[in-house]
Amino acid sequence: MTKQVLVLPGDGIGPEITAEAVKVLEALKISDGLDIVMSEDLVGGAAYDVHGVPLADETMEKAQQADAILLGAVGGYKWESLDISVRPEKGLLRLRSDMSLFANLRPAYLFEQLADASTLKPEVVAGLDILIVRELTGGIYFGQPRGVRTLENGERQGYNTYVYSESEIKRIAHVAFQAAMKRDKKLTSVDKANVLEVTELWREVMEEVGKEYPEVELKHMYVDNAAMQLVLNPKQFDVLVTGNMFGDILSDEASMLTGSIGMLASASLDENNKGMYEPSHGSAPDIAGQNIANPLATILSAAMMLRYSLGQEVLAVKIENAVSTVLDKGLRTGDIYSEGMTKVSTSEMGDAVVAAL
Ligand code: NAD
Repeated sequence: MTKQVLVLPGDGIGPEITAEAVKVLEALKISDGLDIVMSEDLVGGAAYDVHGVPLADETMEKAQQADAILLGAVGGYKWESLDISVRPEKGLLRLRSDMSLFANLRPAYLFEQLADASTLKPEVVAGLDILIVRELTGGIYFGQPRGVRTLENGERQGYNTYVYSESEIKRIAHVAFQAAMKRDKKLTSVDKANVLEVTELWREVMEEVGKEYPEVELKHMYVDNAAMQLVLNPKQFDVLVTGNMFGDILSDEASMLTGSIGMLASASLDENNKGMYEPSHGSAPDIAGQNIANPLATILSAAMMLRYSLGQEVLAVKIENAVSTVLDKGLRTGDIYSEGMTKVSTSEMGDAVVAAL
């Protein structure tokens, strides 16, 4: 059955990089009969300029009806002084919350051709391939009560609530175990069970769900140790699962092991594996409109979309291999350029990936 893909290019470099991912998907429609229909709409500052809001209701409806969403990035200098309620980022947050995208998948994968781009020694990071599964709609970022109150003695006190219900932990656990089943079958659950009761429950539920996946080796690690192990010996990890706040921090740490933000894809999934796919970087307004941004993170996000939402594993691998081939040929956008390589533009990089398919 034909699948519907909604493309939301957004702001800054968003339109340039999504155009290249669309080019790759169009090529697969012709070469491999990929059965999708793509339509495009506005999000972020681009939507604000037209509709006065960063995500129009009609766009939200289209997103609900689509099988998957491919997003560029939102934000830019032009909209920074707007009221917080209509800032570009609010468009993204509405998409995530209205669609219940509770599972954020961020691979930290280092193409060996780019091992020099990391600040860590090549032998520590070469071959790095980690998938971080972060719970995205619960935990301390959403827990109630929250706020700043004034105590009887007149002192102000800030407070947040770290809360996870069993069902929230279970559903993210299933996503993580299923992802591990598709990879090396090793899962590390990160918590702070020695101090926080909420993560003691997290650990218990992970163990319970783990019984349904006997092939997956489950380990637990305290978050402080995980932060350390990620820079000490990152290749020990296959899939890492954790809550919203720890995941926020650890996924940024892991992504920087690869040294290049222009290469990193991400997926946010709901309970039925419907998802939104976007590069991990922002809208890079400093280089927008110059045809120099790296489109590979977005192209690799399109590969994740094929894998997780559209059931096209073979074509996902085909895109990933094409990206690797292009890097083998020495083609580099400015952000990953090193001496001796061939510097290419955004569109030339997209063309090269299509050619390598
Ligand atoms: P950024 O990721 O946009 O840029 C950081 C640096 O990385 C910049 O120097 C940029 O030129 C470079 N860079 C980023 N992506 C690149 C690519 N594909 N190719 C080459 N270089 C690339 O982060 P920022 O500068 O902190 O934020 C810029 C805007 O993006 C802000 O408005 C911010 O709110 C927004 N933002 C959006 C998202 C999102 O849409 N998911 C995420 C983060 C930031």
